[in-house]
Amino acid sequence: MEFFQKVPKIELHAHLNGSLSNETLKELRKLKHGQNGNEASPSGVDDGFYKITGGQNLSLKECFQKFTYAHELTDQPETLAYATAAVIREFAEDNVVYLELRTTPKSTSSMTKRQYLTTVLETIRKANKDLPAIAVKLLPSIDRSKGLVEAEENVALVLELLPSFSDIIVGMDLSGAPYGTKFSDYAKRMAPAQAAGLRMALHCGEFDDDGEVKEMFEFGTDRIGHGTFIRGENLQFAKEQGIPFECCLTSNVKCSTVGSYEEHHFGRLWEGGFDVCINTDDFGVFDTSLSQELQICSKVFGLSQEDIIKLQERTIDYTFANEQEKVQLRETFTNFKNSLIADVQ
Ligand SMILES: [Zn+2]
Repeated sequence: MEFFQKVPKIELHAHLNGSLSNETLKELRKLKHGQNGNEASPSGVDDGFYKITGGQNLSLKECFQKFTYAHELTDQPETLAYATAAVIREFAEDNVVYLELRTTPKSTSSMTKRQYLTTVLETIRKANKDLPAIAVKLLPSIDRSKGLVEAEENVALVLELLPSFSDIIVGMDLSGAPYGTKFSDYAKRMAPAQAAGLRMALHCGEFDDDGEVKEMFEFGTDRIGHGTFIRGENLQFAKEQGIPFECCLTSNVKCSTVGSYEEHHFGRLWEGGFDVCINTDDFGVFDTSLSQELQICSKVFGLSQEDIIKLQERTIDYTFANEQEKVQLRETFTNFKNSLIADVQ
């Protein structure tokens, strides 16, 4: 594990709420409900908060319960700021040097969507100052399950805040269950953000729908979230255009969109010379880390340490960072490689 921990890492597909570790969830619960925290869980029914956040061998349902906790424990600006800072700190502790977080702006009884988004953005701005070892960006999300009105609101809010946070907001994410929705409706709503220069990181081919993947390519997605079910001419197109795949091994295996680590499409993409990177998706929910994902990747698909460094260095090209930031990231890797040589000598 030591090597995977030590290597500088780039994380491009991480949802804020899914990235609250068990420790962070417990701290948030204390902040909200006091020290003993033994009253009914945030969802109103005590269905085992401490079992789940202390838990091993959790069922998928229990894992997903953490999303409910995360939502309910971050419904105030103070707890949301605490959670955002904790997620960034934990990524930094895992030697992640560049992070693109994503989150859907929410309104709660204690804050508006604008307050939600500015709280996250201001916390990121503070972290970028306080933690120089990690650079953090934000991809505000549209959750398809929440409908078109919310999508429009989110885009309007992002465009309103962009002038003040153009150093942090670099793109937008489209996520959530697509059932009963049409991508073209969302594309129309996202087009103004794209026209404003924001990059698009769409969950694409996460479910089996060739037509939708094609529409997303026509719209112009800059990266492919998961891409589990991309095949045939769509796959060919992704390769020709060099559209990077954001692969999330443990998340896909635990959610059973792929049968096992061995069957994960990362292996075929890597072998086939596609642009592909490794991400966590929801490290808190699935109890993993980027280091752990890289270790699994190395073990299952036979990537050497050199391959892992190459994979991370290539991921720099897939970030939505500016050129100057990319140069800095490349320097970080050059320094790391030099330190490895120095260690050997
Ligand atoms: Zn995702």
